[in-house]
Amino acid sequence: MDRLAIVVPCYNEEEVLEIASKALREVLEDLIKKEKIAQDSFILFVNDGSKDRTWELIEQEHAKYPVQVKGVKLAGNVGHQFALTAGLITAKDMSDVTVSIDADLQDDVNVIEEMIDKFHAGNDIVYGVRSERKTDTFFKRVTAQGFYKMMAMMGVKTVYNHADFRLMSKRALEHFSQYKETNLFLRGMMPLIGYQTDSVYYERKERVAGESKYPLKKMLALAFNGITSFSIKPITLITGLGMCIILFCIFAAIYALISYFTGNVVQGWTSLILSIWFIGGVQLLAIGLVGQYIGKIYMEVKQRPRYNIEKVLED
Ligand code: UDP
Ligand code: MG
Repeated sequence: MDRLAIVVPCYNEEEVLEIASKALREVLEDLIKKEKIAQDSFILFVNDGSKDRTWELIEQEHAKYPVQVKGVKLAGNVGHQFALTAGLITAKDMSDVTVSIDADLQDDVNVIEEMIDKFHAGNDIVYGVRSERKTDTFFKRVTAQGFYKMMAMMGVKTVYNHADFRLMSKRALEHFSQYKETNLFLRGMMPLIGYQTDSVYYERKERVAGESKYPLKKMLALAFNGITSFSIKPITLITGLGMCIILFCIFAAIYALISYFTGNVVQGWTSLILSIWFIGGVQLLAIGLVGQYIGKIYMEVKQRPRYNIEKVLED
């Protein structure tokens, strides 16, 4: 039987911690009863440097339910993506399969069973996908969906409407732990792992209590990091823009020369206007070109694993 670890990053979640612990313990009990996971499956709360009573509550829960509830205390606040990674890497050595979920129970805990079923059906990663965004504000919905589209345009593979609610097998995590990059954008990294994957669909709910720990500023930072950690397309765009301007320069030259010969220009305007456009274009092109090399260096220093061998047939 496979040992399941449910990894929950928590930052100032004192209002929801006990509710989350109870809901997740019920899920574990149910799955154990149905003999889908091992008896010693557990929840791993990761305290991301909370300033409130979150860690005390995690300790309390652990004292009450030593088998089902475990905790990791990070020394300070490192942010959701790092806290989750810390939890996943810790859980990897203690379990056969992990599910990551937010503490606020916005993601439907009832689809964890479906995730486990899909895991048993041979999937190494199962993505939780929001089928509806009714509870999100209009603003969050539009910006989020625009973001997924933009990522696709930039050539980054992401699962549409999937955040960080997902199941991962031990071997998927084993491979993930070889990604040493410090600019983490987990939902962009997981599709790079490969293996057979599937999705489960659910409706995203309201937070059970407390308020969002992701203000607009953090959301924008995550989105920007997502693009710049995975794509050097923005640099290519600069190169393209430089070329466009140089091309435009030809038309500007024709226009300027016609104006010059028809005589209604101020002395010196023609040469000045042409220089401005031409030099501007050449500069952009040059910056873009230098950028292309920096982009390559950037991708090299990440030292990402270049492939993931699933099976070798020998003899
Ligand atoms: N979180 C964290 N560290 C942070 C910010 C958030 O571990 O610095 C956790 C938080 O406790 C929650 C999850 O990340 O479990 C998602 O945060 P939240 O629900 O506030 O984001 P939203 O759903 O509003 O996007
Ligand atoms: Mg939330």
